Amino acid sequence: MSEQLSPGKIKGILEKHSLRLRKSLGQNFLMDGNIVRKIIAASRSLPGDTAVEIGPGAGILTAALAAACNHVVAVELDRRLLPVLEEVLAGLQNITLVFKDALKVNFDGLVEEITGAKDYKVVANLPYYITSPLIMHLLRQSGVTGMVLMVQLEVASRLVARPGSRDYGAFSVAVQYYCRPEVLFRVPRTVFFPQPDVDSAVVRLVKRQEPEVRVDDEELFFTLVRGAFGQRRKTLANALAGAKIFPGWTRSTWEEVLKRAGIDPRCRGEILGLEEFAALVRACRQFPG
Ligand code: SAM
Repeated sequence: MSEQLSPGKIKGILEKHSLRLRKSLGQNFLMDGNIVRKIIAASRSLPGDTAVEIGPGAGILTAALAAACNHVVAVELDRRLLPVLEEVLAGLQNITLVFKDALKVNFDGLVEEITGAKDYKVVANLPYYITSPLIMHLLRQSGVTGMVLMVQLEVASRLVARPGSRDYGAFSVAVQYYCRPEVLFRVPRTVFFPQPDVDSAVVRLVKRQEPEVRVDDEELFFTLVRGAFGQRRKTLANALAGAKIFPGWTRSTWEEVLKRAGIDPRCRGEILGLEEFAALVRACRQFPG
């Protein structure tokens, strides 16, 4: 990172524009050039790549990403950051700023419209109040090849959690269905301005060419996953009956379907892996035949 764009300089620009950062928007800005360099290295960005950044903030990561890629599309919700970004990113030609709610953006369409590219990676220090829905939204964009994201530590643990562990849940299953997640390194809260209440981690999600397991009905797969984790204290048959997925399916119907899928109906949803959920989809579709 050039001296021109040091964290100190960026802090100065933020102060000059006397912008009050909003906790409600997850505005904890990264103030450590070393971490920025580690994120860019982890993204394995190449000069021909197109990158999407969610929440450029004051632009510290945006500038470094622009130096590593062909083009950066940066989507920010808070329009008040425009003068800051204009000053920090002055002279950089390969960045397009878009002021929108990232949760409502069709990234495939946006990136193609701006750059012509069909494939892109996402590199971002995510706003923490919407981390999980944002990750799910991004995983459903077909042009995303991979992501390197800063998330709160607790989310990083949920991303990589294995069946049966405390952090394993519907979010872990959904993410692991689409990609291979990996926790790269921890980031202490002290490197942000202002300091958040939690520590963070940088994770890499490599999108699978094909989902991890073959599922004939994705909608049913995700409905079953939500149903299985909806009431964690209940046995699986009870939880699924309570989720009212199919009209008229009682606990004993579910016990039968689960048995046909090779799953013990008395177990809890949190021990099921992707394979078991896929088997359950098949058993539901074949029932009662
Ligand atoms: N990238 C900067 C950095 O690393 O210092 C800022 C990261 S800060 C954790 C998160 C950023 O996301 C903020 O700039 C915030 O305004 C922005 N943001 C919050 N909600 C958003 C949304 N729904 N869509 C796009 N950006 C959002």
